[in-house]
Amino acid sequence: MNTIAVIGSGTMGAGIAQAASLADYEVILYDLNDDILQAALQRIRASINKGVARGKTLPTVAERAKAAFTLTTSLERCASADLVIEAAPEKLDLKRTIFATLDAVAPQHTILASNTSSLSISAIAAATQRPDRVIGLHFFNPAHIMKLVEIICGDQTSDETVAAGTAFAEQAGKTVVLCKDTPAFIVNRVARPFYGEALRMLGEEIADAATIDKLIRSAGFRMGPFELIDLIGCDVNLAVTQSVYDAYFQEPRYRPHPIQRRMVESGRLGRKSGRGFYEYKS
Ligand code: NAD
Repeated sequence: MNTIAVIGSGTMGAGIAQAASLADYEVILYDLNDDILQAALQRIRASINKGVARGKTLPTVAERAKAAFTLTTSLERCASADLVIEAAPEKLDLKRTIFATLDAVAPQHTILASNTSSLSISAIAAATQRPDRVIGLHFFNPAHIMKLVEIICGDQTSDETVAAGTAFAEQAGKTVVLCKDTPAFIVNRVARPFYGEALRMLGEEIADAATIDKLIRSAGFRMGPFELIDLIGCDVNLAVTQSVYDAYFQEPRYRPHPIQRRMVESGRLGRKSGRGFYEYKS
């Protein structure tokens, strides 16, 4: 594989694109308009520069990575890649439409992957005529730093597709784990009570967000639940919670909390909007 396309240049798409560029792939980056794409490329280049300044990235590797990007608003253009990784919003209908469009124009060999946090890979694959070449490649945030990638096999994902997905992730310096196609896979399922219980405590005014975060950090976690929700994006966190809740037939322990919906409705999306549980200066 030489060329990777990434659909969606938001938090995850930009991170995945950065990881691919640093692993020596050509990267086609797609989003809805040029302004979004230019802003993403600026963030990626700044992040690569930071890696050089910290001694994590060789200047020669950084220069090559920064020159590896093609920006596009055409899904057809993305179909020329060997592997397409979709990182669009967490909505099944949207992802199925993107996959059906790509499937119609991509050559036979192209592998279509989703970075979904919780949705069924089999359901996404069913929108295509190539379910054997559809796979979940679930990166974690920030994708250019976090080592883990969950590889999710849909009902019909072939061994060759798993091997190709694994090869790509390992080339990007990642550690892979294979997961069954179950709601939220491994990590996000384990993480549900982490967010859910903290939100309930906040809702019951047992403690404020900063106190709960501090407590969790003192127990050895890198971030508290509210700091993590702000990093993920409150909208993304709510969409994933809702999707897991629905996928488990409204199992009460996965129920979203009204605080999450209120945050999203008022535009407090976390770091990306400058305000979530905490305030962020750009
Ligand atoms: P985001 O909101 O930061 O970015 C989404 C991007 O998709 C935006 O740039 C947006 O312009 C673009 N977009 C909107 N509509 C589109 C369309 N019709 N076609 C293509 N692109 C479109 O979201 P994100 O946090 O990067 O999440 C993307 C995916 O990654 C979701 O499936 C999410 O569940 C998953 N994910 C998120 C995290 C996280 O921590 N944020 C971690 C792992 C996986």
